Amino acid sequence: MANHSLSQALQWLQDLQLTDEQLLTVKRYRSLMGIRGFASWRWNYRDQGFRMQGQLCLDAGYGVDEIDGLSSTSQVRNLFHPDDLDRSVAIIRHHTAHKTPFHFSFRLLKKSGGYLWVTAMANSIRSKKGLITDIVGVAFDASQLQITQEALRTAELRLQRIMNASNDGIWEWNASTNSFDCSDRVLHALGFHSFEELAQDEEHPLKGWTRRIHAEDYPAFKEALNRSLKQQLPFDYSYRIADRHGLYRWVRTRSFGIYNSDGKPLVVSGTNIDITEIKQAQERLARARDEAESANISKSKFLSGMSQELRTPMNAILGYAQLFEFDSNLSNEQWDNIREIRKAGEHLIQLIDDVLDLSKIESGHITLNMEPVMVADVVRDCITLSHPQANQYGVTITADLDDAEPLYAECDRVRLKQVLLNLISNGIKYNRESGWVNLNLFVHDAEELCISVEDNGQGIPEPKQQELFQPFNRLGAEKTAIEGTGVGLVITKRLVEMMAGDISVYSQENVGSCFEIHLRRCFEWSSQEVLSLDSLINEKRKITLDISTPKTVLYIEDNSANVRLMNKLFQHIRNLQLEVAEEPLLGVFKARTQKPDLILLDLTLENVEGFEILEILKNDPTTGQIPKLAFTGGTSPQETSRYEQLGIITLLSKPINIEQLINALQMVFQNQASLS
Ligand code: ADP
Repeated sequence: MANHSLSQALQWLQDLQLTDEQLLTVKRYRSLMGIRGFASWRWNYRDQGFRMQGQLCLDAGYGVDEIDGLSSTSQVRNLFHPDDLDRSVAIIRHHTAHKTPFHFSFRLLKKSGGYLWVTAMANSIRSKKGLITDIVGVAFDASQLQITQEALRTAELRLQRIMNASNDGIWEWNASTNSFDCSDRVLHALGFHSFEELAQDEEHPLKGWTRRIHAEDYPAFKEALNRSLKQQLPFDYSYRIADRHGLYRWVRTRSFGIYNSDGKPLVVSGTNIDITEIKQAQERLARARDEAESANISKSKFLSGMSQELRTPMNAILGYAQLFEFDSNLSNEQWDNIREIRKAGEHLIQLIDDVLDLSKIESGHITLNMEPVMVADVVRDCITLSHPQANQYGVTITADLDDAEPLYAECDRVRLKQVLLNLISNGIKYNRESGWVNLNLFVHDAEELCISVEDNGQGIPEPKQQELFQPFNRLGAEKTAIEGTGVGLVITKRLVEMMAGDISVYSQENVGSCFEIHLRRCFEWSSQEVLSLDSLINEKRKITLDISTPKTVLYIEDNSANVRLMNKLFQHIRNLQLEVAEEPLLGVFKARTQKPDLILLDLTLENVEGFEILEILKNDPTTGQIPKLAFTGGTSPQETSRYEQLGIITLLSKPINIEQLINALQMVFQNQASLS
């Protein structure tokens, strides 16, 4: 029925004098027919007449009457896309048997050719006997719906492809319905193929999953999950979970939830990754690191113990050699021989010190005293100290410090000096006849200072440069007469790095080398005095300690070689008597009862800490005021200040340096004389 026949029908209905209610229904029907993309249809089962009215017919390009009143089934069939026909007929047949309302979608042939997707919804009218008289329904334009569904299908397929390609398992928990869905990977990771296999009886999949989590990991897992749900934060947790054979695998779960306005989760989506292999690799790495660390600690302990053991006899060798140097009866030749012994001993001590230093650095036992240091001061000091060596090798040392005065670096003064002395010493040693070493100090950028030590010596061949900074690797210098241990540069590099700096090298064979140190620049004045080092003594020495009134010195030392050495030394000193205590507690007793004028204490006593003895002596009123000097094999700045607080006036180095000891004695007794 076309629109005009509808108005005729209305007129006819009015003539029938319908109630207002009935008229309203008819008007409603009419306006429905005017909605774009909508139509109603009726198929008379008896005469096979097909009627279709509504805007949808016009949208498909047909005139008002063209598909209203088709009278043959074949005409109706022609309106269907051939591919949709069988399916549509099957649905209608199914309806005739089951009597339930039905719907189907098909492509409606447009007048202009081409098709329009249409969804039809219908039900049948039946006679009292239950036979179908008519099928009535609506139809609407479903092309937009089809496009959306097609896009959805494409997106789903794409997601499926991504899920299959990815190693991650993907899952979603719909909290409002408590339903759980996941990709195959989630289950495959544990060797399962379905949730029925994973979960027991009627267990919820999530319950089945969490039940398999390792008992040690479960409480923390649960707490982290609850916290993330409560605070609406992303969840990221790694835990062990039993696979189908009961073996544990590591899984990392990451998820994100969507919450309602009350903060209750609606949907939580996430991924699971099997990280078992990564974890195993991490564990292997951690084990290897622990083993390496404990091996390193054992090595450091061994080296430091060994060095102490070597130092003790070296002490005696060097001490006695020095004593001979004070013997005026020696011939020049004997004196030269003694000096050779001393030189060799000093080399050995140097080696011991280097090894000890390196092992301390490697085991992290070195503490730095970082402060603003005026670098030019340190450079000048190092040059002064290096002159004897430079003279010996016929090498000139120069420095370009014109603009350097106000430059400060953030570093440890003593360690910087050690670094520079080593680089200068190398520049001198690996040089040529009449060569030079030049030091330069300049601003690298706003934050960094650069100190360069350059020489025009033999240089380092390119391939060998890779081997620099390797412990005990002398790059072939071990075959020459040049003395060295092959440890200096390693220590230098580690120290520079500990001071937050770095070191680089430029070198060319037969042209020379340039070592550059970069340190952090700072702008403050340093109050610390420059330390003075012992200069080398090249001439025969006399002991010039002059003590006017007799004094007693108590020497607490458990090493008999050192005691013998000290006894010999004190024989040369007028008015000074040495009292020895070879046991620490005996030392304390003698200090209390004999009240010496000075206590000399070795801080590396066996079985007792130097600190403990000093505490006892300091806290006792009879010994607290007695001046004290102590021997030590080396201390950190913190230890030095602790010793000073415990009453040590001067820390003396070991092996015993007689000149240093005599100077210290001189100072103590002069002070006492001036006070009395
Ligand atoms: P060493 O005690 O042997 O001097 P270092 O660790 O200080 O040990 O140096 C390692 C090696 O690097 C040296 O043995 C030497 O072969 C090479 N080397 C270091 N500095 C220089 C330099 N300025 N010129 C040439 N070779 C150098």
